[in-house]
Amino acid sequence: MFVDSHAHLDGKQFNADREQVIFRAQQAGVETIVAIGNGDGPGTLDCGIQLAAKYEFIYATVGIHPHEAKLATDADFAEMEQLAKRPKVIAWGEIGLDYFYDHSPRELQKQVFVKQMELARGVKLPIVIHCRPSGANNNNEDAWDDCLRLIAQHWAPSGLGGILHCFTGAWTHAKRALDMDFVISFAGNVTFPKAQQIRDAAKQVPLDRMLIETDAPYLAPVPHRGKRNEPAFVKETARQIGELRGLSTEEIGRQTTNNFYRFFSLPEKLKSI
Ligand SMILES: [Zn+2]
Ligand SMILES: [Zn+2]
Repeated sequence: MFVDSHAHLDGKQFNADREQVIFRAQQAGVETIVAIGNGDGPGTLDCGIQLAAKYEFIYATVGIHPHEAKLATDADFAEMEQLAKRPKVIAWGEIGLDYFYDHSPRELQKQVFVKQMELARGVKLPIVIHCRPSGANNNNEDAWDDCLRLIAQHWAPSGLGGILHCFTGAWTHAKRALDMDFVISFAGNVTFPKAQQIRDAAKQVPLDRMLIETDAPYLAPVPHRGKRNEPAFVKETARQIGELRGLSTEEIGRQTTNNFYRFFSLPEKLKSI
């Protein structure tokens, strides 16, 4: 049993065969998928909700990705505030900072990030964080410094916690987030030969504080690297973490699945749907 805690199932890469992709995930033992609702930015912010409405085992998020921060308007914030109250929306995100691509100016990324933390707090949803520093090896501290500082300032007091998604940082970054009620989600890049820093962190994060995800269609794990990623491949991330920790793929699947339901208090939420 696995949960893919982060997939962009709305992506146009799935337009031709989305149904089969979702079916394959179920065949592979993926019992729940979180459809990230960033879409292509404003105008498509309900894309996760649409998928969640169609499939019982899919949940959704809403949020504006740091890439599209420059497009965000007050009308978009108001729209998201309403969308966030819809059934099966379990988190606000992904939001945060991306200093690798710099698709939006950094000051604007910070403003839109802080604004969305305020909105998420208002609707009492945890947040899904995207943090990518500058530099070829994800080794610079810039985005981590800003991101963790802004979370400490604007979010930690809420006690609502969140997910550091597709974690690429060092253990020190994970530790700071864990201390602010976050869980750490590992993606397919934990299997990449050069990703020793991610594997080091995956060895240290407490087993009851980790999730797994695909970030599909991006970052397909070995042995599918370079192809389109899909939720069925979340198993490869579990396999890699299991190898690192001397546990079976199934044990990692079971543990991260339990973590997911506990973090989102999903049995309670299901009753209200
Ligand atoms: Zn991301
Ligand atoms: Zn993502």
